[in-house]
Amino acid sequence: MKILIDNGHGIETPGKRSPDGVLREYAWNRLIAARIVDRLLSLGLDAELLVPEERDISLPERCRRVNAWCRRLGKDNVIVISIHANAAGHGDRWYDVTGWCAYTSRGNTRADALATCLYQAAQATLPGKRLRTDYTDGDPDMEADFYILRHTTAPAVLTENFFMDSHPDCTFLLSEEGQQAIVNLHVDGILQYLQI
Ligand SMILES: [Zn+2]
Repeated sequence: MKILIDNGHGIETPGKRSPDGVLREYAWNRLIAARIVDRLLSLGLDAELLVPEERDISLPERCRRVNAWCRRLGKDNVIVISIHANAAGHGDRWYDVTGWCAYTSRGNTRADALATCLYQAAQATLPGKRLRTDYTDGDPDMEADFYILRHTTAPAVLTENFFMDSHPDCTFLLSEEGQQAIVNLHVDGILQYLQI
């Protein structure tokens, strides 16, 4: 199984930061994505960064990279997880929001099974934290028409890891404890999906 970890945004992407400017999403996403890939590699799994570049890589190019792997290995032998930090506003002020969630494309696909594994791992690794869910279709994940979810043929999930414009969430995201919990969540969810 080829495990592709995507990090949203690039160094030049406007906005996408905490109101005090300390957390920049492109950097945080890359830090977490690299730690997830390192852990998966140390477990002997075939993981890699979809975007090793610092700059923003367009969504069509990211999807092209995923789909090239799908053609080579078969789409059921590839999974994609895109790592993000959520925002309630546009970096203008702090908001009173919190929570972790995962998105899949609409309808029932193998991505829903992957997202459910990530939610189960989140329950274990984020005790006392809020998980944002949508059970209207019978599973916990949220559904959205995000480009990376719609235009990749492999199961793809996008995680929004707390809010960079919530002060307590931002402190958690910048803490070693928070970063470790979020890395563990992704690694454990992937292992569950792979039934390892
Ligand atoms: Zn983002």
